[in-house]
Amino acid sequence: MHDLDRSTIWPYDDGTPGRFYYSRYDSPTIADAEETLGALEGGEALLFPSGAGATTALVLQLLQPGDTIALAEGCYFGTSGTLKTLAKWGVRYVEFDQTGTPPDDVQLVWLEAPSNPFLTMPDLAAAAAHPAPVVVDATVATPVYLRPLEHGADYVLHSATKYLAGHDDVLLGAVAGRDLAALKQFRTSTGISPAPDSAWLLARGLKTLDVRVRRQTETATLLAERLQEHPAVHAVRYPGFSGLLSFDVADLATAERVETSTRVIVNATSLGGVTSVMENRHRWEGDRVPPGLLRLSVGLEEAEALWADLQRALP
Ligand code: PLP
Repeated sequence: MHDLDRSTIWPYDDGTPGRFYYSRYDSPTIADAEETLGALEGGEALLFPSGAGATTALVLQLLQPGDTIALAEGCYFGTSGTLKTLAKWGVRYVEFDQTGTPPDDVQLVWLEAPSNPFLTMPDLAAAAAHPAPVVVDATVATPVYLRPLEHGADYVLHSATKYLAGHDDVLLGAVAGRDLAALKQFRTSTGISPAPDSAWLLARGLKTLDVRVRRQTETATLLAERLQEHPAVHAVRYPGFSGLLSFDVADLATAERVETSTRVIVNATSLGGVTSVMENRHRWEGDRVPPGLLRLSVGLEEAEALWADLQRALP
């Protein structure tokens, strides 16, 4: 692994530019992290300044004005926000149930594995049979549990801010695919280039990805089982992998009481870090989610300490 290299320029060799010469094009620390992530995904990877930035770059590079995206219903609400913003450039989206077949007459299929915060899994085979290119946002599954390129997806998207970096201290996005030359050219010419410090933190985070995610999953599995039995919990959504789950309590007031009563679990947004965080999603997503829905991202604290914390906070 290279040291962190913050240079924006590198000297020519006898008048000839080498691989690295100007950092908007390519730079060693970013290339290192991309190589590691690409190997994990079974393809190539490119980094972007955020997950939303990666979404924007991918959509604008792949689509034309007049094109339509089939977007997984109930996926990260920010992705539909990004797509709404892009609508004035003539790109529209329609939502569909990703557990079934994508609609005809779309130019891109956008799945989320599993969806945030509903935790549904897409039918990857049905999507791969669709003539349009398929993007899988695998932020929550991570390559530890799912390598979408092996299931016929064309692109994998990550908010690397979450599990990949894993410590709530870097904002970063990534796209993986089989051939990203055109997307890299688009990134270079539009300047949606990531920072080397962020890439270095990602590379460090990736070294512990597997152990973090497996431990988070073990704890989340235990908590999901116990929440299921708790009388104040109406529904638990947990696909059995990753550290992310959501559950419903009676109403918004109860959810607000629960999220502000924990002492170990931090009342904050985001997911995928070593610290457990929980929040009611109604504050951001409104009626798109049940009013009592709490999203819990399980960190690396002791499972029994987290369960005791939840028990204390639940009515
Ligand atoms: N995709 C998913 C599933 C997310 O949860 C998020 C952020 O919460 C994003 C994409 C956007 O990523 P970022 O916040 O890094 O822009």
